[in-house]
Amino acid sequence: MNFESSTTPRRAVFLTTPALWEHGHGKNHPLKPERLRRTCELLEAYGALAAPNVRVIAPQPATEDELALFHSRTYIEVVRILSEGGAWTETREYINPMRYGFGSGDNPIFPEMYETESLKAGSSLLGARLLVSGDCDVAFSYAGGLHHAMASYASGFCVFNDPAIAIQWMVDQGLRVAYVDVDVHHGDGVEAAFYDTDRVLTISLHQDGRTLFPGTGFIHDIGSGAGEGYAVNVPLPPYTDNDAYLWAFREVVPPLLERFAPDVVVSQLGVDTHYQDPLAHMALTTAGQTALFEAFDALAPRWLALGGGGYNLDVVPRSWTLAFGVMSGQTFPDELPESYRTRYGGQWLRDHEEPGIDDFTRQRVRHKVEEIVAEVKRVHHL
Ligand SMILES: [Zn+2]
Repeated sequence: MNFESSTTPRRAVFLTTPALWEHGHGKNHPLKPERLRRTCELLEAYGALAAPNVRVIAPQPATEDELALFHSRTYIEVVRILSEGGAWTETREYINPMRYGFGSGDNPIFPEMYETESLKAGSSLLGARLLVSGDCDVAFSYAGGLHHAMASYASGFCVFNDPAIAIQWMVDQGLRVAYVDVDVHHGDGVEAAFYDTDRVLTISLHQDGRTLFPGTGFIHDIGSGAGEGYAVNVPLPPYTDNDAYLWAFREVVPPLLERFAPDVVVSQLGVDTHYQDPLAHMALTTAGQTALFEAFDALAPRWLALGGGGYNLDVVPRSWTLAFGVMSGQTFPDELPESYRTRYGGQWLRDHEEPGIDDFTRQRVRHKVEEIVAEVKRVHHL
C-alpha cells in the first residue's frame, strides 16, 4: 500500500440537503448548522459539485428500524418524544432527559431534533448503500460523523451515531469494515459499538483523553473477547503538529489496514485538529489535514467519508472543501471565490499562517509522539 493517488478521479457523491442546516442545537452551541451551509456554499462557488464525476444526492431520514441497527428502541422513542416537546412514553412512563444524556449544555433538546438528527444518520447510511451497490467510489456525508452517541444516550453533541449505524448495515451485508477516526476527540461511541467483534477494525487518533473530552481512548484499550486487537487508540499530546501527526498516522494506519484488508474504509474527518479550533489543542493546518485526506484516498478501496467536529467557522468549510477536492480529484484555486469572500471574509482556501509553536515544545511533543507510537505498535504487534 502506498500514498499515491490514482489518476482517474473517483465517482464521488456529495450528500446534502438544506434540511440539514435548518435546525440546530441553539444559538450559543458550538455545533452550528452554518458549518454545513457554508461548506456547501464554498463547494458550489468553486463549481466543485458540477464536475462530471460528481453527483449531489439529497438524503432521507433514517427509519426507526435503521436507527435500531445501533440504538435501543427505547432511546429512539425517547428522542422522538423529547423532540416533540413531550415528557411521557407511550406506556405512560415519565422521561428524565438527563438519563438519556439530554438537557445539558452539550446536548440540549431542540425543535425538530428527531427529524434533523435522523436525517444525518440517513445521509451516512445512504452513502454506505451507494458504495455497496457500486454506484460510487466515495461518498461524503459531511453532516455525519457523530461518533460520541451511545446506544442508549446522547453525548458530545451527538444524538444518533451515524458511523455505527452505517458500519453495522455494511457488516450485515457481509463486508469487512475499517473505521478510522481523525477527529481531535476519541471516537468512543463507534469504538464501543464494535469493541467485542473482529468484523470491524476501529482506529482513533485523538488528543489524549487526560486533556480532552470524552476522557477515553488509551493505548491499552484494544477491544475485548473476539474483538481483542480490533480497537486501536493513538492518544496524542496537545500541540501535536502536522509533521508529528502525519508521522504517527503513517506508522500505524497503513500497516493496520493492510493486515485487516477491509472492503470499505469509513473515515471520520473531524477537522477540530486545526490549530485555530476553539475546543481543542492540536496544531494541524489545512496542509496537514489535506495530507490526511490524501492518505485516505490512497488507502481506501471504497471510501465512506463522514464529517465530524470542527468549530471554527472560518476553517471548517475550507478544510472540508479541500477534503472533497481530494475525494473527487479536483484542485481549487487558492484564492477564495469572490462571492464567498464578500459574504464571509477571508482570502485563501489554504492556511497561509502557521501555528506559533516554539522549537522546544515542538521537539518535546515529537519525542512524546514517538514514545506513544512505539507502544501502540508493540501492543498491536506492528
Ligand atoms: Zn471532535
